Amino acid sequence: MARISSRVIIFNKDKVLLMFRRKKQINGDIREYYVVPGGGCENNQTLEQNAIRELKEEMNIDIKITNYVGLDISDYGFANYFVGEIESGELKLGGEEKLKSNEDNFYLPMFVPISKLNDIDVVGRDYIIKAFNKEFEKLNNAILTDQGICPTCYDRKFNGILYGDNSKNIIYRDKYFEAFLSTNPRARGHVIISTLKHFKDMMEVDDKTCKKIFKLAKKIMCVIKEVYKSESVYLCTMCDGLNNHFHLQLIPRYDYEKRGSINFVKERKPYIYEKDKIEKLRDLIKK
Ligand SMILES: [Zn+2]
Repeated sequence: MARISSRVIIFNKDKVLLMFRRKKQINGDIREYYVVPGGGCENNQTLEQNAIRELKEEMNIDIKITNYVGLDISDYGFANYFVGEIESGELKLGGEEKLKSNEDNFYLPMFVPISKLNDIDVVGRDYIIKAFNKEFEKLNNAILTDQGICPTCYDRKFNGILYGDNSKNIIYRDKYFEAFLSTNPRARGHVIISTLKHFKDMMEVDDKTCKKIFKLAKKIMCVIKEVYKSESVYLCTMCDGLNNHFHLQLIPRYDYEKRGSINFVKERKPYIYEKDKIEKLRDLIKK
């Protein structure tokens, strides 16, 4: 898998925090350039957590992330640019960079005026300019999927950073599963059941979990039928791809709708939050 990194652009008025580099190239030439601080992601860290850790290690500062700027895909991998602010700490070189720093491979953190960016060799210049002009992108599931990160797992790990707080739509949750009303429903009462553990599709799910999720699905289908007075509830799963997160869709069919597979692809409808229905679903599933 390509290397995934996160980098943080930090401004101080009209200056930006960069790491100055002087490095002897293979042919013996000396290259002097600047990079946005940050580095490669470590296991089990979100892009943001990784950025915060890297800045602490290499520049001795505590920062907070305020915005996502964009994704740079190159031969070096995926670089995610964020904007951040310094919360505390005294700027000085640390970590691996400090250990590695020598005459031929030199590191120095410094604030560089924005007005000088065009005259120097800067990796990630476009992203610094974008951030300076407050042109932010939203970190979304397509950006994560491109990097081999499951958006569902990412969202859960980071308390709804992508999809927002979904807790008011959750109708059931235990150690293994979560069931919630789809906010992009194909019918009123459209429910999604998803495993808490990452499986890319049903073929990957162990038998025990499979059995459990189908028992739960049956229960929830009966409850949906009762609460929404639908004529039937259909079930499907169509996860397809490495970064899909296994889930079942429970889609009600009402008496005014035709039977058949058309129900799996009914036009999506606006989601209406119905507190009384949600409470009823929760109560009946618990029983
Ligand atoms: Zn996942």
